[in-house]
Amino acid sequence: MQHIDWSKQVESRKHMVIEDTQKFLHIKSVLDEDDASADAPLGKGVKEALEFMLQKGEADGFTIKNVGNLAGHIEFGEGSELVGILCHVDVVPEGDGWSSDPYGAEIRDGKIFARGAIDDKGPTIAAYYAMKIVKELGVPMNRRVRMIIGTDEESNWRCVEHYFKHEEMPTMGFAPDADFPIIHAEKGIADFDLVQSPLAEQNNDFQVEVLTFQSGKRYNMVPDFAKAELDALKDQTDIIQCFNNYIRDNDLSGRQYVDGGRLVLELEGVSAHGMEPNKGKNAGIFLAKFLVKLKLNAQAQQYFQFVTSYFGNDSRGRALGVQFRDDVSGELTINVGKLHYTKESGGVLGLNLRYPVTQKIEDTKEKLELFLQNKGFVIDNFTNSNPHYVEASDPLIRTLQKVYEEQTGQEAELLAIGGGTYARSLKSGVAFGPLFPGREDIAHQRDEYIVIDDLLKATAIYAQAIYELACVTDQKE
Ligand SMILES: [Zn+2]
Repeated sequence: MQHIDWSKQVESRKHMVIEDTQKFLHIKSVLDEDDASADAPLGKGVKEALEFMLQKGEADGFTIKNVGNLAGHIEFGEGSELVGILCHVDVVPEGDGWSSDPYGAEIRDGKIFARGAIDDKGPTIAAYYAMKIVKELGVPMNRRVRMIIGTDEESNWRCVEHYFKHEEMPTMGFAPDADFPIIHAEKGIADFDLVQSPLAEQNNDFQVEVLTFQSGKRYNMVPDFAKAELDALKDQTDIIQCFNNYIRDNDLSGRQYVDGGRLVLELEGVSAHGMEPNKGKNAGIFLAKFLVKLKLNAQAQQYFQFVTSYFGNDSRGRALGVQFRDDVSGELTINVGKLHYTKESGGVLGLNLRYPVTQKIEDTKEKLELFLQNKGFVIDNFTNSNPHYVEASDPLIRTLQKVYEEQTGQEAELLAIGGGTYARSLKSGVAFGPLFPGREDIAHQRDEYIVIDDLLKATAIYAQAIYELACVTDQKE
């Protein structure tokens, strides 16, 4: 078998890799639909970043294609089968508080600082140079290799949606847009609302009427704030005292005040990503648990009782009868990301459900519907992204494990996660880097950076991966 020293190959191109990464990071490729035009549907910055990569590919002798100005590809190699490397060139807005220009790509302490450094422009350059190295070595190939470049990963994935409507799905592939070693299982993700039906009969013996209740804006986040407006003039003093005790006993913070005759209760929880609701303190659920103890009007009573009974102490769907776990990806989780109630239109819960890779969402939805009969709630706005899973025995996994272990000397453990990565838009693909185990995850944060040694190490890993997946090696013959 031909021995190629991949680190040495990268080392000899080190300055180009760093310089191109910096140039690429100078482009502010944030989605800007106000700046959109027919040939730049997501804005000029995003388009410029796509063009940057395609022009580079063309100059280096690759076959390139712009696909609807939403995506593109850079290809080389021979054969009917295709190895895909899925990257994206859009970035999230830079936000405040940077120590240097977020698009300056300044180098300090062996790191390049810029929005997009680790997510996903640094890794895109790493994968690009990996292709370039293999191409320049001129080894015989039995598969084509194609970098697929998306431009809307951070928002709505219109890039891959459009791309795969018109272009070939790779036989196998990887996305350098998450963690090393290899993420081979990603839970399914369903977002939906449970909408309260209007109650036929109202009661007259309530003491507190809930006028509005609001908590959370996103399905995939644990709400850290909740607010209720009550009509409760008679019991105001009592309620205030109970509320103060409640927040103290539960180690929360909050406040209450009277505004225009309404008693307003505000409560602060702790935010967390929806993939593990137990890491946060859901402000909406905490406030619901307080409100349900008051003598409420019937519609509100039903809503808050529902919230506390089925979501009050359980993020695993046990009370709903949809709990499930498998050995590959763990337990089903439910995050109540949005809670909303008004006196006029009743209540809604916005749920983010993450289910194990072997669970069928159709069965789960059916169970839920059955459960909801006679509870006064119906499912609405249902969206689903299926689980993504490549089995451990798959040749793709075996090859990437071998490459990772040879390049790092570390065991290539397979990871299963509750989140979704870009890899799920590939039919048979995994997330493969760029963040090494033990490194802090600074994607989407201020002072985002990539460690230069990691950038180069990733380039070597990707180069060997391309070689093993697409070239005629002795082993395969
Ligand atoms: Zn990304």
